[in-house]
Amino acid sequence: GTEGLHYPRVLLKISGEALAGEQGFGISPPVVDRLIDEIRHVHEMGVALGLVIGGGNIVRGTKASAEGMDRVSADYMGMLATVINALAIQNSLERKGVETRVLTAIRMEQLAEPYIRRRAMRHLEKGRVVIFAGGTGNPYFSTDTAAVLRGIEMNADVIIKATKVDGIYSADPNKDPNAEFIPEISYLDALSRELGVMDAAALSLCKENHIPIVVLNLDAPRAVSRVVRGERIGTLVH
Ligand code: UDP
Repeated sequence: GTEGLHYPRVLLKISGEALAGEQGFGISPPVVDRLIDEIRHVHEMGVALGLVIGGGNIVRGTKASAEGMDRVSADYMGMLATVINALAIQNSLERKGVETRVLTAIRMEQLAEPYIRRRAMRHLEKGRVVIFAGGTGNPYFSTDTAAVLRGIEMNADVIIKATKVDGIYSADPNKDPNAEFIPEISYLDALSRELGVMDAAALSLCKENHIPIVVLNLDAPRAVSRVVRGERIGTLVH
């Protein structure tokens, strides 16, 4: 059963960048192996789990448009990148015996089901891990916003944002030696201090719908399971 779980229903957002690992691009097999192991563990705890995977390890819309590409085309390429990542994660999960479904916001029937909320709920009820691909399906949005949107739609208790940093800092810890770790922060402070946790659209959607966000490092051992059990790691935005 799910008794004793602090968060029985979880939307886990994994940035594309986190999937790339050391190589900084594409999909790193050792990173994926560790991630899959953790997802399987969380799933075995009885958690209803939805995943949103970014695409920044392949294409990032703002970067491509800064380099001269039309923004909308670049964003669609970014959304397609999230589908590539979703299929990679689905394949790895199923090889480990975890049943999954990929639901995409952009129709491509040959390789994934279209996103239909009721269908997503049904898959979750049946204990399948649901991978939401294609972002929101709209340009000018991010996969963070997609994660919050899907999280709200599936009545998740929390959005867990898995990144390459331990949580939120007062400044960029890679640039500022005085940057301080922030264990807990309000939505409003996170928004107004522009700490780069999540884009403003995603944060305000969380704020309006009272869904907490935990930002944590994917490299921390059993990070997601620990949060699900109620341990305080990373940064809590609420
Ligand atoms: N994207 C989009 N609409 C969405 C989600 C994503 O246009 O709803 C595009 C956008 O160009 C973005 C890219 O897909 O840069 C990859 O997503 P994101 O940058 O959020 O991935 P992450 O940073 O998590 O790897």
